[in-house]
Amino acid sequence: MDEREWLRRHRSYLFPNVILYYEQPLVVERAQGCWVYDHDGRAYLDFFAGILTVNAGHCHPRIVERVAEQVRTLQHASSLYINRPMVELAEKLAQITPGRLQRSFFTNSGTEANETAVHLARLSTGRQEVIALRHGYSGRSMLAMDLTGSGPWRPSGDHVVGIKHALAPYCYRCPLKLTYPSCGVACAGDIEELIQTTTSGRVAALIAEPVQGIGGFITPPPEYFRIAVEIVRRHGGLFICDEVQTGFGRTGRLFAIEHYGVEPDIMTCAKALGNGMPVGATIATPEVAAASTGLSISTFGGNPVAMAAALATIEVIEEEKLADNARVVGAYLRARLDALRERHRAIGDVRGLGLMQGVEVVKEDRAPNPEGTVRVMERARERGLLIGRGGLHGNVIRLGPPLTVTQAEVDQAVEALDLALTGLS
Ligand code: PMP
Repeated sequence: MDEREWLRRHRSYLFPNVILYYEQPLVVERAQGCWVYDHDGRAYLDFFAGILTVNAGHCHPRIVERVAEQVRTLQHASSLYINRPMVELAEKLAQITPGRLQRSFFTNSGTEANETAVHLARLSTGRQEVIALRHGYSGRSMLAMDLTGSGPWRPSGDHVVGIKHALAPYCYRCPLKLTYPSCGVACAGDIEELIQTTTSGRVAALIAEPVQGIGGFITPPPEYFRIAVEIVRRHGGLFICDEVQTGFGRTGRLFAIEHYGVEPDIMTCAKALGNGMPVGATIATPEVAAASTGLSISTFGGNPVAMAAALATIEVIEEEKLADNARVVGAYLRARLDALRERHRAIGDVRGLGLMQGVEVVKEDRAPNPEGTVRVMERARERGLLIGRGGLHGNVIRLGPPLTVTQAEVDQAVEALDLALTGLS
């Protein structure tokens, strides 16, 4: 069966809102390391890593082995019994996460991790109002869609009351039309007025990504979180750090918030935690976690296979020093992208941390160029390179390869991108 026939069946039997990349979407067949192979056996260099998920590389042999062993031994338990990998993973997360984060609740996705976090913050503070950021993305449940600060991802409007969206720390298109650093990071300071004017003054939490993923790798200035979190805490709120996309070495540190010198009260993880196995985690300080009263179970959350995958993934990230590789090879990728920007007027901005680098594609007048971005993606694919797309207008190329990527592979990717950008302005 050819690709067109698979597309026809996909269109017939899946919800129409399931977005697909490429005019003729890729039918993926298998993958290894930084490489993905399609239906016809064609190889692609994967610079999107299944939406920044396979940080240890596709089908890492050690993770595959651990998963296979766990499936053979105990595939399912439910949260009603103790399964050893679950306890081991919770203990490991307590050791490696920043600050005093210590107690975990496991789920199956980033969406659920964020749901759990906001619910916990509300229980812990006895308050309802939550601040999220414009251009942020929190997931696809009704609460998570409402937290999301991007219209296209929240098509049915509000469902949950008490969510306010603060300005994004989006320096390239500053919402206050200021320039860093003379702005004094006024977008963070504005949270004070947001609280005073649009809430009761009693907020439960600020939820934010250290680098906004779907928003187009919007990277806050170094002072941003210290200012924002201080304001929220002064008003009695907690800081929920969404590390779903940024966690587990992606930005050159194990967790991206470590770049900002702030300790979260609650952190959410998913994606790279299981290197592709469905898993989410909400991790909180002991005092905050103590508020998780009422009954709770999760049929699949803490599933031993997902837990084993996560334990093996963390081992690989630590032993292969993948955060260091993300820092070193990420700096190399960044330098090469900055050089591309000198030559291509269609590149308005290059931003990100480590192996999470965004390229904002613009027209002559700096207006977003989503059509051009789609063309770049198609042309890159023709040259055997997979990349992602994001931003409110869909005009930000998102580069996020597995953290095992080499400089030679970066060279290959940048050359393909260079050719794909040629003639676009
Ligand atoms: N938070 C962030 C920052 C994300 O990028 C995503 C997914 N792209 C989510 C939450 C939701 O995760 P999931 O798709 O696993 O529900």
